[in-house]
Order: sequence, then C-alpha cells, then structure tokens
Amino acid sequence: MKIAKNVYALESTKGSYSYLIIDKEPILVDTGYPGKFEDILKEINSLNLDPKSIKHIFLTHHDVDHVGNAALLQKETSATLWASKHDIPYILGDRGRPGIKKLISFIMRPKKPEKIQAYPDTILEDIQIISTPGHTPGHVSLLYKDILFVGDLVGNTNGKLKKPPKFGNSNNKSIDESIIKMNEYDFKWICPAHGEPLELKDEWEQLVKNIGRN
Ligand SMILES: [Zn+2]
Repeated sequence: MKIAKNVYALESTKGSYSYLIIDKEPILVDTGYPGKFEDILKEINSLNLDPKSIKHIFLTHHDVDHVGNAALLQKETSATLWASKHDIPYILGDRGRPGIKKLISFIMRPKKPEKIQAYPDTILEDIQIISTPGHTPGHVSLLYKDILFVGDLVGNTNGKLKKPPKFGNSNNKSIDESIIKMNEYDFKWICPAHGEPLELKDEWEQLVKNIGRN
C-alpha cells in the first residue's frame, strides 16, 4: 500500500506492518511477525526494488511481531540493523522479555540477529529518531518528512488511535508522556504497526485530550 511518494506499507506484513522507504538509501521500518521473510522479499521486488539494495532496517522496539524477520532480512540485504540501546538486549536474548511476551517469543522463536547498532540520539538518514518509551523501555518513533512511524506507541482501530493494551506495556505512565510529547511534532501521516495508516493529525490531539481527562 502506497502511503506517500516512495513510502509503502508492506501488505505481506498486515497485522504488524513493516514499512518501506525508497530513498537514496532504502530503509525498512520494522519487519513483521516471524515467517514472512519470503513474502517480504517478493513484495519488495514487486515494487521494483532489489531487496539487496536495502541499506538500513530500523526497529521501533523489541517485540517479536516487529523483529520477526530482522535476522533473515539483515543477512539477505547486509543492511545495518538499528534499535534503541535499551531494547537491544531483549532482541539479542541477553535479557528475557517480560510476562506474556516471554511465552510469545518461546512459541514464535524469532531468529536472533548477529549484530544490532544502537540508534544515535537524533537523526539518521533523514529520519528523526524520537524516544517514545512506555510500550517497551527503548521504544522509538521515527519521523520521515511528514510521516510518523509510531510502532506500538498507538494503533489504529477502525479509524481511532488507541493506546496498546496495558498488560503489554513496560510503563503505562511513560506511554502517556510519550504521546503528549509527540503532539509537539509536525506530521501528517501516522503509520502504526497495528491497524492502517491514518492521514490525520487531529486524531493525535484528541488522544492527548483524553489522557488529560483520565
Ligand atoms: Zn506490535
């Protein structure tokens, strides 16, 4: 699905979207549930891009449905794989995922990448790396032009932005703070992993108002 010029939501990862930015250096944002590797390659090819030309893979956070194909994609493309320094130990298995996420990763067994770089504090390849902790300790949102990739900071349920279920978050107060913080940024498109991309900034303001009411 085309979002804007050179930005696509990969249909093969529907359920936990991976996004493709075809810029000077092509970039993948998140990699979907495990087992989608072949379909992702096929879809990238269908967009007239050689998957081997992907230079970077940006992970929003450590959850299995986001890092699911990171190891295989990194091998195939030799892209640099990036994540927050707080989430890297979970992805590499140096730290156990908490609660229900432990069971999910036991069942889904995502392959561990060989190497992950920690994000710099600000900008990487024209993308602003914004720390938005709460769903996981090192969750980031990524701002490219007027398109905000939010990972699981919020999802889209039938056109409404929703916070992720409380039980899956590392810190629910931090999520609220992260949502309020993002309202200060300029963006038009909101691209969540769960649910369809939305072209509405008003929705974000509504979400912030609702936090105030709680
Ligand atoms: Zn997710």
